[in-house]
Parts: sequence; structure tokens; C-alpha cells
Amino acid sequence: MKAIVIGGGIGGACAAIALKRFGIETAVYEAVKEIKPVGAAISIWPNGVKCLNYLGMKDALRELGGNMRFMAYKEYQQGQTMTRFSMDPLIKSVGEQPYPVARAELQSMLLDTYGRDQVQFGKRVTHVEESAGSVTAWFDDGTSATGDLLIAADGTHSVIRQHVLGYATERRYAGYVNWNGLVEIDESIAPADQWTTFVGEGKRVSLMPVSGNRFYFFFDVPLPKGLLQDRTTVREDLQGYFAGWAEPVQKLISQINPETTNRVEIHDIDPFMQLVKGRIALLGDSGHSTTPDIGQGGCAAMEDAVVLANMLQTNSLGIEDALLRYQEKRAYRVKDLVLKARKRCDVTHGKEMAVTEQWYEDLKTETGERILSGMCETILGGPLE
Ligand code: FAD
Repeated sequence: MKAIVIGGGIGGACAAIALKRFGIETAVYEAVKEIKPVGAAISIWPNGVKCLNYLGMKDALRELGGNMRFMAYKEYQQGQTMTRFSMDPLIKSVGEQPYPVARAELQSMLLDTYGRDQVQFGKRVTHVEESAGSVTAWFDDGTSATGDLLIAADGTHSVIRQHVLGYATERRYAGYVNWNGLVEIDESIAPADQWTTFVGEGKRVSLMPVSGNRFYFFFDVPLPKGLLQDRTTVREDLQGYFAGWAEPVQKLISQINPETTNRVEIHDIDPFMQLVKGRIALLGDSGHSTTPDIGQGGCAAMEDAVVLANMLQTNSLGIEDALLRYQEKRAYRVKDLVLKARKRCDVTHGKEMAVTEQWYEDLKTETGERILSGMCETILGGPLE
């Protein structure tokens, strides 16, 4: 059996690793010459961590992951703590801890685990064709590749999605812009072992530890879509959006590197239940594009990879049957994640300010129990117990 994997991001790389572990021949085709992820870092929640453990990256991931033992929300003007609690109850109930990691390092780990030299870079798929018993991908350099099945891990702008669904999907602007990057840990901004989030005015400023004494930071601001992006004014822009916010936020803005700070307009796509067509399977953002509000997009891609490989390995009624079983296992799970994230996004970003204000009030009486139990439910919905 030969699988063609389109896209060498988190989803494609995990799928290729998973199939290879079961002895399935794989070939990965990646559009760009060098992968440059859209974000500086990513929080891998225990459901994603378990998938990476399962795929043989347990030790490597621990080297990259930050030590995130506590979680805290802070009020935006004075920086007073609204709630602070340990993550230990979450870790105890799900059996694994979360790891925030720098994206470039995660990507390197995945490609090294798979075998970087087995990825063909600069191969952009334009279209796919199925015939009885095989599937062919055509690239923009005029070449093609044929296999027994094709895994479309070509991200949120997937060109293969339309072939699978039979219609074009629209990306939906979620209403806010996210700036993110890495900065050296400074404990006068936030503790080194804590996920700290300042909230107010429907905006947020967040810091998570990653390895190498660095914080992953992000700023969210509800804004119209399509505003001019200018790297040279990032610091001034953030100073404007966060005028009157507490001293640690001002300090963070003064310490970021505008050259390496990413600016992303956040989108998702309405969930759909069809993830496969014949011998083609959508995996990762091509099959479910979510806002990052519960940090599950990449984790869901890892879950997809594990489930898909298991279906191909454990069933013997043929590829098309295994892919349908993959769809059956994944469609409701990923729909749920996208809609949960959308709901969280609206509360966090002031879609209805009264609801957001109530959330701020609720945070002042939060012991950790409600937040952690919501996280537990999401995490335990993954394929690995
Ligand atoms: P991608 O990472 O987009 O990879 C797709 C790959 O396919 C790319 O390398 C691309 O070059 C290639 N490609 C595209 N088109 C073609 C083509 N035609 N031919 C060949 N190759 C092609 N998730 C989490 O789990 N936790 C988080 O904390 C988190 N934070 C996030 C923060 C932000 C700001 C954003 C935007 C997202 C976040 N996510 C997070 C989501 C996560 O980044 C994505 O879900 C994840 O990257 C999806 O992986 P993927 O492989 O499906 O897609």
C-alpha cells in the first residue's frame, strides 16, 4: 500500500510518521521550499501529547515543552489576579501534561522523526484525480504522483477540500487579530511556570512558557478585517490598542521583537461531516479549520493522524472502507472542537460585551474547577485514553 501525503505541516508530518510506523509506504509532497508556520508557538494539550507519545516522540517533546504548572487570569488595568490555580488536577485526571512548544522546533522534530529527506519540497498540488484502485496528485511543475490513497493535509486553504466536498467552502473571519511571538522570560511580567492571561475590553494578552527560557506571547484585539499590516509600527499599534493596561503588559510590548512578531487575522470554517471521498482523506485544517481559542487545531490534526493510521492498520475490508471508518470516528469530534472554539472565541472577544463582562465577573470566583473540567472533557474526547 502506498500513501501520498499532501502537505508537510503538523497534520501531514504526523500522518506520514503514523503510516510509516505501520509499514505503509509514504511519500510527502510539500508546496513550499521551507515551511514557515503562521504562529511562533503552539500549546499541545494532553490529547495531542498522547498522540505524539504514541508516535514515538515522548522524549523529544519533553525537551521542547515549557513547564506550565499554573494558570492565572489577571484584570487588565491594575494587573490584579482574578484567579490562579494549579494545573495538577487536570494532569492527574487525564494522565498527561500539556506542552507549549515553539512551532519551528515542533516542525523540526516531526520532520526529523519522519525523515526530512523523504519530503519533496516545492511540490504544490493543483488537482487530484481518482481512478479505479488509485489516486493521482498533479503538481504545478507539471509532474504527478500516484498512490493507493491520498491524504490531503494541505491546510486551511486546501485545494483538495473542494474535490472531496464537491463545493467550495468559505473561511469565516472570527472578528479579531492575533499578534504572536517569542520573548525571553521576564518574571516581572509573569511567573515562568504559569500560563498568564490579562483580560479586559474584549482583548487579551497571554504568556506561556516554552523551553529555552522563553515565553510564547500573544495579543488579541477585536478589529475589522483587512487593516493595513505594517511590521514597522507593531509596537506603536499594540501600545495604542493596550493603552491604560497594566505595567507588565506595557513591559511585554517594549520587549517584543517587531521583526519576528506575527500578525494573523483569525478565521475558521463552518464544520462539515464529509472528510473522505473514495481513496482521499482530508486531515488537519483541510478537514476542520478552527479558531485557536481552545488551542486544539494542531492537536486535532495529531488525533486525525493516529486514527487514520489505526483504521488502515486494523481493518481489512480495503482502503475505502478504512477511510469511511476514519470519517465516522472523526467527523463529530472535530465539529465539536470547531464549535467549542467558536463559542469560546465569542465570549473572550466581546462579541456581546455583556456576556464577556459576565465572564470577567465569573473569573473572580473561579477556583479552577470549572475551567479545568471543561478542558478535561475536551481532552478526554480524544482517541487515546
Ligand atoms: P498547516 O500547518 O497549515 O500545514 C499545511 C501544509 O500544507 C503547509 O506546510 C503548506 O505549505 C502545505 N500546502 C498547502 N497547500 C498545498 C498544496 N496545494 N500542495 C502541497 N502542499 C500544500 N493548534 C493547537 O493545537 N494549539 C494551539 O495553541 C494553536 N494555536 C494557534 C494559534 C494561531 C494564531 C493559529 C493561527 C493556529 C493555532 N493552532 C493551534 C492551530 C494549528 O496551527 C493548526 O490547526 C495546524 O497547524 C494544522 O496543521 P495542518 O498540517 O493541517 O495545516
